[in-house]
Amino acid sequence: MQHVNEDCLLLDSNRLAQMGIFKARHIRAEAQWEGGSNILLVYMGEHMNLKYSVNGRPYTQEITISTMPCHFGGFPYYFYCPACSTRRVNLLLGMTGFYCRECYDLPYCSQVCRYLDRLITKNHALQNRLWGENRRPMRKSTRRCLIARLNSIQDEINKESMRRFGVLIC
Ligand SMILES: [Zn+2]
Repeated sequence: MQHVNEDCLLLDSNRLAQMGIFKARHIRAEAQWEGGSNILLVYMGEHMNLKYSVNGRPYTQEITISTMPCHFGGFPYYFYCPACSTRRVNLLLGMTGFYCRECYDLPYCSQVCRYLDRLITKNHALQNRLWGENRRPMRKSTRRCLIARLNSIQDEINKESMRRFGVLIC
């Protein structure tokens, strides 16, 4: 059976940067995914050490991090794939460790990402309808109904993000 990469756990350098991991000189964090997987992550300057287990077998991996100034300001961060040394935003945890999609030779299927994008679009549309500048008058019952829908969409966004990206505990 061939897996698509959405089935793998994903380490996303943009997410780690947003969470402030790369701002610290030395940081220890634990990433947890829904389903009980977790990794211990230690970042020191240009390297990140990962400790985790796959099917009960412990692994440690050192990943090199790089950054370069971006045209639009800011400094995006990249991982160097430990196998092919190319710069990557995402590394995937497959059966033998964190490597890029090409190294795992995985077909790309972005259905789950599209699903998340759709949820986020719906979330914005509902917020605009409820509180946007061009909102129209509506009945109280309609409003209550929209708020309930908005809450359930936001729950789903949190669940889906947790499934895809895990949470990071510092
Ligand atoms: Zn690679």
